[in-house]
Amino acid sequence: MSADHREQQPGQQGSRIDPHVDRYALRAQGMVASEVRALFAVASRPEIVSLAGGMPNVAALPLEQIGDLVKDVVSEEGPAALQYGSAQGDPVLREQLCEYMTLEGIDAAPDDVIVTVGSQQALDLITRVFVDPGDVVLTEAPTYVTAINTFAAFQADIRHVSMDEGGVDAGELDEALTRAAREGKPVKFFYTIPNFQNPGGITMTAERRAEVMQVCERHDVLVVEDNPYGLLRYDGQAQPTLYSQGRGNVIYLGSLSKTLSPGLRIGWALAPSAVRAKLVLAAESAMLSHSTFNQLVVRRYLDTFPWREQIKTFNTMYGERRDAMLSSLSALMPRGCTWTEPEGGFFVWATLPEGIDAKAMLPRAVTERVAYVPGTGFYADGRGRASMRLSFCYPTPEQIREGVRRLVGAIEGELDLRDTFGSTLGPSAEGSQAPAADLP
Ligand code: PMP
Repeated sequence: MSADHREQQPGQQGSRIDPHVDRYALRAQGMVASEVRALFAVASRPEIVSLAGGMPNVAALPLEQIGDLVKDVVSEEGPAALQYGSAQGDPVLREQLCEYMTLEGIDAAPDDVIVTVGSQQALDLITRVFVDPGDVVLTEAPTYVTAINTFAAFQADIRHVSMDEGGVDAGELDEALTRAAREGKPVKFFYTIPNFQNPGGITMTAERRAEVMQVCERHDVLVVEDNPYGLLRYDGQAQPTLYSQGRGNVIYLGSLSKTLSPGLRIGWALAPSAVRAKLVLAAESAMLSHSTFNQLVVRRYLDTFPWREQIKTFNTMYGERRDAMLSSLSALMPRGCTWTEPEGGFFVWATLPEGIDAKAMLPRAVTERVAYVPGTGFYADGRGRASMRLSFCYPTPEQIREGVRRLVGAIEGELDLRDTFGSTLGPSAEGSQAPAADLP
């Protein structure tokens, strides 16, 4: 999507309600609120089963022990914890994060790591450092909504590459890179979530990873590998990271948001040292230094807690929820619906029978007391109307089974409507600016 897709003209609705509309930078005009935000406010009502948000179930953490740990940080390391720190992040924490990454088969040096405010900030810093307006960023389709928002905020030309059940299509990636080169447009990076993709739930196969790395190397393109869910695997075999197959052309993003807590906002980027240095400079101007307090809490957690056991506990819990969702979908979904079967992570991507629009169906679903995220939010170009993201991380297995029953009620209602009046799909939004969803 080019910058001009997102321009808002004076005199449009925004200018009537916002007297500052003519002052905003072009990049701020690309920052648009979600059309479905109002529905999500409704969706957070207690009677609604929300299959929408990607919130980890932090209530499963030993909260009392974490409370003690926070108290110890204040009483034993208070002056350091309450002081400024460095923009690169606490050196001991960076060592611990390297140890954490060994579970993914990554051999990293602490100096190549920058601690960020969740991996979201790493995405922002990378885009800030690499992308000028109009530069091409390639992503899988569909992809993580807030990554799209970040790339759009920096006025990137976001181009999608399709996925199948084995991950991104390496041939199509090759074609997209060749086309951009022919157009003389620099491709700044290829953004991918190889494990239990958000929103697709798809994991890239080992063969595909090797092909993708070959293509990216041939075109000399940087890869941004976003891996917040990698350790949340419920079955199947772990696959090698792209980072470990790269030759200095991969920036790897990690996060403790899903394996510990998103509230602590600890993520990181592992990058070639020259890139890491630029990211630190960008982080300095964005926030001066990271929260020392949160870093020392996490440092103590990783030092004193059986955190590997905690990840196993999460995996047992989320695995049961994944199973509840998949078995309910198999038992109840009407003919013509399809869905992915994730080996880990938080999300299933479901596609509705022909002629049914997932966004148009959302009000009916909310009436049935269930919520999901319509597929269009996960594309930069308006595709995805027949699909939806279903999260199984937060509701209990019983709530998930009930949520799927209600969802099926909504789909059957839309099928009746379709069979009476024809397709429920509105005019094609393809090629237009997609409304962004707001959920993690
Ligand atoms: N990348 C992906 C694929 C995500 O799903 C998320 C959060 N849902 C993030 C990055 C950002 O996570 P955080 O900033 O909490 O680390």
